[in-house]
Amino acid sequence: MDSYQSAKEEIKRTADIVEVIGQYVQLRKAGQHHVGLCPFHGDKDPSFTVNQSRQMFHCFGCKKGGDIFAFWMEYHKASFPQAMRELAERYHITLPERDLTPSQKKEKELGESLFEINELAARYFHNILLKSDKGAPGREYLKKRTLTREIAEELLLGFAPDEWNGLTNFLKGKKVDLNKAVQAGLIIAKEKGYYDRFRGRVIFPIHNLRKQVAGFGGRVMDKSLPKYLNTPETPVFHKGELLYGLHAAYQGIRESGRVVIVEGYTDVLALRKHGFNEAVATLGTALTKEHIRKLKGYAKEAMVVFDSDAAGKGATLKSLPLFLNEGMTAKVIALPEGDDPDTFVNSKGLQGFIECLEKSVPIFEFYLEFKLSRRDDSIENQVEILKDVLPVLSEVNSDSQRSLYIRKLSEKSRIPESILLSELKKQGPSHEGDGHENMLKKILSGKTAKNQDDLFILNLLAHFPHTAGRLTDTGCRLLLSDPIIIEIFDSICEIFKKDGESNPDALAERLKNETARERYREAILSPPIYRDDVEQALQAFELKVKKNNLSKLCRNTGNDLEKKNLILKQKSEQDRAHNKFLKTDFGKSGLNRPK
Ligand SMILES: [Zn+2]
Repeated sequence: MDSYQSAKEEIKRTADIVEVIGQYVQLRKAGQHHVGLCPFHGDKDPSFTVNQSRQMFHCFGCKKGGDIFAFWMEYHKASFPQAMRELAERYHITLPERDLTPSQKKEKELGESLFEINELAARYFHNILLKSDKGAPGREYLKKRTLTREIAEELLLGFAPDEWNGLTNFLKGKKVDLNKAVQAGLIIAKEKGYYDRFRGRVIFPIHNLRKQVAGFGGRVMDKSLPKYLNTPETPVFHKGELLYGLHAAYQGIRESGRVVIVEGYTDVLALRKHGFNEAVATLGTALTKEHIRKLKGYAKEAMVVFDSDAAGKGATLKSLPLFLNEGMTAKVIALPEGDDPDTFVNSKGLQGFIECLEKSVPIFEFYLEFKLSRRDDSIENQVEILKDVLPVLSEVNSDSQRSLYIRKLSEKSRIPESILLSELKKQGPSHEGDGHENMLKKILSGKTAKNQDDLFILNLLAHFPHTAGRLTDTGCRLLLSDPIIIEIFDSICEIFKKDGESNPDALAERLKNETARERYREAILSPPIYRDDVEQALQAFELKVKKNNLSKLCRNTGNDLEKKNLILKQKSEQDRAHNKFLKTDFGKSGLNRPK
């Protein structure tokens, strides 16, 4: 096993699939499995199943499934090496350098050099802010905002003096390839030479979760525009994925289970100064699905501080469907009009801010308030409400929460609950019942297998892979008719012949055909048909093969009476054995009674 492969095994041993997936999908225990709503298709019944003992997941709806790496790649739209890197980092497992393709190597090297240049630039801005005469306007700004030197040092704040080539010259002096500094978004190329992008601004370095400087935000000192200037999109800076302050806040967020999402970098800093280490800010953009997915890895609930102006309210409302779709609990914190977290925490202190957190309302209630506040009781308005609110309401996944909201909506809109419920039913598939159990029933009823033996043998192999050898030796392959199941059977037998029983769970990944992998995963996640009676099941299958063979022989002997007699004698012995078998408990169950 090469060292990359052994690191992969180590990740699998260390990371628990239920814990990892549970951070992104709300799972509940159902029998031997955990089930939840599938994040990969519009799932209304919980068809997404995770099995802890086999460390695998499978969706009975869209058929996506596999191990922890398959989940990570699908959910985060990541490549396999990326999934390896991110999971290894999370579980503190060291990865060996692996042979990269030339283009991967180039990409990796470019990324590394951009981070290096960013780090140099961040130190340059930081030194000016703290030590240089040129940094005086920046220090003045910090003083005005009552930001301490500790905060400036912790978050590596800086100052870009109002000059055209301060950073350009600095980087030149450090022998930096200036074309790469252009790629990092720090300087801009002109006809002859280069000039600095950030001028006369306080600099907020933006780190990724590895604490590398991915880009910068720069704020002007006066009323000129734009007030904030960010690094443009670069190979290492993606606004829709990064969050300001998360690299410093994630431990606090993980401990409390909540994350507070604010609008400005200085909001994060002011809260931090007061000892509140659970705030992050978007980079001047709206919240994205990628942001929420990232935060779900650390927090159970998100609290959005909404700006009381109309734009702020609108942005908060726009994030509602994202939170609902991602199944993350979200609340809204309303600060007094005219306040932002920065001004508020500086005047009311941490205690005042905590009190506001405690008064936060679920984002859906906030949405209802907003929708209903401008309405009267007229029929036209009631119809409008139904048209607006019900589609959003149908996205709420939790039954109890949905009924709570229906009651609230009914109280506030004066539309009877029964009408709301019946209208809601028209919105989409019902939320009632447990689709997972039905799914298993469907699979067990054999609808997906051409004949019952296919289904039983596949189930036996999936739960007791060690039976593969015996099933081959006794010719049970002859009982199969579904080509996919024959393929699974053959692959498993082959793998066992080669590797023995070393790692039965890895079998699913080693099947070459995607349909075969799906069918095998489904069999693993279906309840075992046999439990303590595996030996008897094997005997029953063997008996059936023998009987089938004899019947075939009998048909083919033609008029050779002597031979026919011999075969009939053998057959009646088989039948006696069969009858004896039927008298056992296993035979009586009738489940696999050979015909
Ligand atoms: Zn699915």
